[in-house]
Amino acid sequence: MNVLVVGGAGYIGSHTAKALHRAGFTPVVFDNLSYGHRWAVRWGPLVEADLADKAAILEALQGHRIGAVIHFAANAYVGESMENPAKYFRNNVANMLNLLEALVETGVRHIVFSSSCATYGIPQSVPIREDFPQNPINPYGETKLVGEKMLKWFGGAYGLGWMALRYFNASGADPEGELGEVHDPETHLIPLVIDAALGRRPPVRIFGTDYPTPDGTAIRDYIHVTDLAEAHVRALQHLLQGGSSMALNLGTGRGTSVLEVVQAVEKVAGRPVPAEKAPRRPGDPPALVADPSRAREVLGWEARYQDISEIVATAWNFATRHPQAAPSV
Ligand code: UDP
Repeated sequence: MNVLVVGGAGYIGSHTAKALHRAGFTPVVFDNLSYGHRWAVRWGPLVEADLADKAAILEALQGHRIGAVIHFAANAYVGESMENPAKYFRNNVANMLNLLEALVETGVRHIVFSSSCATYGIPQSVPIREDFPQNPINPYGETKLVGEKMLKWFGGAYGLGWMALRYFNASGADPEGELGEVHDPETHLIPLVIDAALGRRPPVRIFGTDYPTPDGTAIRDYIHVTDLAEAHVRALQHLLQGGSSMALNLGTGRGTSVLEVVQAVEKVAGRPVPAEKAPRRPGDPPALVADPSRAREVLGWEARYQDISEIVATAWNFATRHPQAAPSV
């Protein structure tokens, strides 16, 4: 079956395209290459187009005889979303609406959607279950929540089967070294710490050392991108087998602090990482950790990478072996 991977030239999308190919699907990547990379499209054709262009979506769906869609394409910088919410609602909501309308018009009945733990806002407690209240604290999270809502109402009205996958902190790189994380600008902790260790960037700033956590730094649930990719394949298979639509958390269920990430990089790099204390970053919750049990029950999926050092090692291997991983600034 041909699967349209919207945003398939990006970080999680490209790893998923590889996993789809391995599982016997043909990934057809639809990407405007605004943030994605042509070199990351290796397992099927690339349709270079934008979701703002509904005619291009319709053409891709019909021309490639698409049977299902996985939708990754979105703007995903929390800070930018606070300053420019219009960009986020335009691309993540209005352009996603183009995609959903095109699916209905062409009779494509299955979609897997990249959602986020950012839809929960500041959780009442951790680990977070899917039925916890969703109160996003930034426009990025709000647009992902609207995406989930559109799916719910479209599903009921037009018979669209959907899975909303709420990622925690996507991290690491393809263990075979073919793909990795290359964002510009880069804001994510692990690549910034690795680049600081390599002297490619200034010392890493530790945003907040006074959180109510054991070492005072914020806790996140780092989930390996290959585990995420596998979960997408299983979510798609679940839909194709007639499974019901739902949202699932994708995380390991383990929390790791910022300091523990820095220590893991030091261990893998075999050298100290230059780091300095900095104020909290606005809008950062103290701790976000998934309860991933529903994904295990529904998909039989569990994160294989449970150890932060192993996750960091895959990112380190990619960053040190691939010149394109170096920052452009
Ligand atoms: N973080 C940090 N310094 C940085 C980047 C991130 O201390 O230069 C912290 C951030 O405050 C958060 C954690 O690392 O607690 C993970 O941040 P990231 O941006 O990677 O992902 P997020 O959790 O914001 O989606």
